[in-house]
Amino acid sequence: MAPRGSTSSNHIPPGDVKCTDTVIVGNGPSALFLSYLLHGNIPTYDSVTHGPHPDPVLHAKLSRYGNRPLFDATGSARAYEALTEHFHAATYMSYSNQALPLNVLLDTLVRPGADTEVGGAESRLKWSFDERRRIGHVVLGSAKEAGGQWSEDPTSTSWDIETLSYAEMLSLPGYSFREHYRREHGKVMSHFNRPTRREVANYYSAYPGAVGIASEVFSSVYVHRINRTQSGFSVKVYRKPAPSRPQCEYTIHCKHLVLATGIFTNVVPPPPIFLPLLNPANNTLSQQQQRAKPLPLLVVGSGFTAADVIISTQPNQKIIHIFKWNTTRPSPLKGCHPQAYPEYASIYRRMKQSAADSTSPTLPTAPSNYEGFPNAQVIAVSGDGRAIRILTADGDVLERTIGTLRYCVGRRGGLEYLSAELRKAVGVLDAGWVSADTLRRRVEADPEITKNVWVVGSLTGDSLVRYAFGGCVYAAGGIMADQEIPQDELVMQEATAAGRRRSGCVVS
Ligand SMILES: Cc1cc2nc3c(=O)[nH]c(=O)nc-3n(C[C@H](O)[C@H](O)[C@H](O)COP(=O)(O)OP(=O)(O)OC[C@H]3O[C@@H](n4cnc5c(N)ncnc54)[C@H](O)[C@@H]3O)c2cc1C
Repeated sequence: MAPRGSTSSNHIPPGDVKCTDTVIVGNGPSALFLSYLLHGNIPTYDSVTHGPHPDPVLHAKLSRYGNRPLFDATGSARAYEALTEHFHAATYMSYSNQALPLNVLLDTLVRPGADTEVGGAESRLKWSFDERRRIGHVVLGSAKEAGGQWSEDPTSTSWDIETLSYAEMLSLPGYSFREHYRREHGKVMSHFNRPTRREVANYYSAYPGAVGIASEVFSSVYVHRINRTQSGFSVKVYRKPAPSRPQCEYTIHCKHLVLATGIFTNVVPPPPIFLPLLNPANNTLSQQQQRAKPLPLLVVGSGFTAADVIISTQPNQKIIHIFKWNTTRPSPLKGCHPQAYPEYASIYRRMKQSAADSTSPTLPTAPSNYEGFPNAQVIAVSGDGRAIRILTADGDVLERTIGTLRYCVGRRGGLEYLSAELRKAVGVLDAGWVSADTLRRRVEADPEITKNVWVVGSLTGDSLVRYAFGGCVYAAGGIMADQEIPQDELVMQEATAAGRRRSGCVVS
């Protein structure tokens, strides 16, 4: 599809009260795709353009819906369960048994056999535009550009780190990463391209303009209080001041609510023992010293973020790495194939070697810039934050001088923006600490977790972009179905809307 515009972020004009049908909180990939659907872009199963879906059972089930929108086939938990119940025993395809079946369904329709066929994954979805199905909505996200966590960098790793997923798996319908690449570089993207974080952020920020949804996507805005009202929800929105525009606060009334705030907003903070290392005065000293001779960097964490920090350092940077190591589940990096992910595989090798050395010490090897401590603990930090004492897994206590700490043990989402009553309704007690498990059970039962509230994206517990589509199609179908109202009600609603417009309440 040709780009229809170029604006990536938007600003809601100031005003006290606004009304719209649907508010989507969060501006990550799932929110953007849902907005694309709510604009009236309708998916239908397509067995003609590239032939039937390679899974004949799925093809037979979907064929019963003829040319009807996919929303009809996924309209209720029961309907999509009927489509997907054979997945676990399918012999023609290998389907994920970790992701929600609804998300696996959309993934296989967008890219059938993507994991096994090079370049052969032709979409079995046809898209058509239906103005009558368009739903008034806004996408409200705190990230400064469309793209959610892709346009933020709370852990300060390099923007040039390559993503885990190949570009195709990060693509959204309507404007693919491949099209974006061609537009940016004037050439065809190769298969198995792992783009950099910068390229992905750039793609998502261009997406709203390219598919014509930019007027509904609002960035740098914080949703901070959502209450259920008699007719739907009231949503308080705060926009930070910037040199070009003042701060502003307003309320939006809506009928439907979609939570797309992800599970990566807040970085898990280090425990109090590390406080001297976080003292800005000590950091200033560190910066001066670092220029003269870089002091070792202390990295705590065993996952991808810790690995990204290590990858982002200068070659001469000495690293002290403390990580959890369990022989049965050593580190998420274990799954990284050396050919596909050489950088992560190399860090995993160093961690594994450190774990082996700690259980059966070998002769000292040549000095290295990397010193790994599996299952060790920092038990003391000097007041100036320069010296730390480490209790190793063998019970030895070692002292090390360090310059900076990077604490990378995870990130969490938050749902503090929901009122206490809504949090109770969605079954969330610790709203400040939301992980992949928090809403999983509810979402498995029904992604509409309480009346007129849907969950999409990583908040469902499926964190990969490729598994975000099912939840979005389900939410869009439910919201659109709620719009299909009898003629006499329509007339009454028109009259109410006219009254509202006279009272200054803008309906988009
Ligand atoms: C370091 C890292 C690397 C990753 N690499 C990959 C990868 O290679 N491939 C892949 O498929 N996935 C990857 N992921 C997973 C990631 O979950 C998805 O790529 C994707 O970003 C999920 O999209 P989302 O729509 O759920 O929301 P997110 O992208 O998480 O965006 C949600 C946004 O909502 C904002 N928000 C939160 N609260 C509020 C509020 N109250 N008001 C307004 N805005 C709010 C958040 O700040 C955030 O910007 C990675 C994740 C991380 C952390």
